[in-house]
Amino acid sequence: MAGEPQADCLFCKIVTGDIPATIVRETETTVAFRDINPQAPTHVLVIPKVHYPDARTLAEQAPELCADLLREAGAVAAEDKVDDTGYRIVFNTGSGAGQTVWHAHAHVLGGRGFNWPPG
Ligand code: C5P
Repeated sequence: MAGEPQADCLFCKIVTGDIPATIVRETETTVAFRDINPQAPTHVLVIPKVHYPDARTLAEQAPELCADLLREAGAVAAEDKVDDTGYRIVFNTGSGAGQTVWHAHAHVLGGRGFNWPPG
C-alpha cells in the first residue's frame, strides 16, 4: 500500500540500511544512492523514504514529496558537476517502460551524451 513500508521492497530495505548502498545524499524525506548497474558516469537513484510504488502514485498522493525528489535530483547533478553539461531525470513507470523496482525512484544520469528519442 502507498505510504506503508513494504517488507519485501528492496528500496525500503535500502532506506532502513538492511541492504547496503552507496548513499550520496540524504534528507528528511529522500535518499540518493549510486545505481549498482550504472548506465552513465553519474547514475544515481533518488527515492522517497516512504514507499510509493511508482512515480504516478507518488505525484498523485504526495506531490510535495515528488517535488523533494526533483529538487534532490538537481542537487545530485550539481554535486557530481554534471549540471553544466546537462543531465537526464528518468522515471521508468510500468514494466513496459523498464520499471523493475516497485518503489518510486528518479534515475539521475549524466556525464555523457544522450540520444533523443531514448531507447
Ligand atoms: O527503473 P528501474 O525500476 O528498472 O530501476 C531500478 C534500478 O535499481 C536499476 O537501474 C538497478 O540497477 C537499480 N538497483 C540498485 N541497487 C539494487 C537493486 C537495483 O541500484 N540493490
